[in-house]
Amino acid sequence: MYSDAVKTATVETKNIETNGNGFHKSAEVYEKWQDWHASEISHHGKMCCEIAREWITSTDFSELGGASILTGPRWLRLKFNWGASSFPIYWCEAVRKKTLDCGALAALASTVFTARGVKNYRLQMVQRYSEASTSQWSNSWNETSEQLRWMNNDLIYHEGCAIEAGDGEIKIWDASAGWWVDPNSKDGYGALLAIRLSAFNLSPDASFTWGKHRFDAWRWTNVN
Ligand SMILES: [Zn+2]
Ligand SMILES: [Zn+2]
Repeated sequence: MYSDAVKTATVETKNIETNGNGFHKSAEVYEKWQDWHASEISHHGKMCCEIAREWITSTDFSELGGASILTGPRWLRLKFNWGASSFPIYWCEAVRKKTLDCGALAALASTVFTARGVKNYRLQMVQRYSEASTSQWSNSWNETSEQLRWMNNDLIYHEGCAIEAGDGEIKIWDASAGWWVDPNSKDGYGALLAIRLSAFNLSPDASFTWGKHRFDAWRWTNVN
């Protein structure tokens, strides 16, 4: 993730809670981001954005050729480099960018899946890298600490897109990596630790399966 989009983020005040016995319970990996919402691409409500969005969906249609509508839209990752986005970002701006962050790319992926008629959801993730990588990224990107709120030591906040694969089963498309995330992957570099699935108008009672994981919509769930 790479975003100063989320104004609702809580201030990090309670990394450690006590469990009542006087012992310290370690914080959930998603604690820093638990009130964040999936990134959105904004619309001016005018032709500028309508044309831009139409360009994305029609380009997807031609990139897809005759392939399955469940194919991951990898062309988005080839068109846009993964990097900083500033929010709000409008459709007419986003299509002209050379770099987009994972939240913006996930929003584009969601739009093309919707245009293809594939039911899909927004997916927020927490992954573990090493502190060496995360501090190297923060140095090389030279971002302000405000923009680096998506990192927390060796943890990073990330976004993707989930598609319905039948019977409440989902597949997770990592739009900025350009691959499907393996639900059986184990701990390790880049390991996925927690996910949160949401979508406009999605019932809070909805539940899903991803590999061996079963989880409810709208709630952060540990998957590792
Ligand atoms: Zn990311
Ligand atoms: Zn516009």
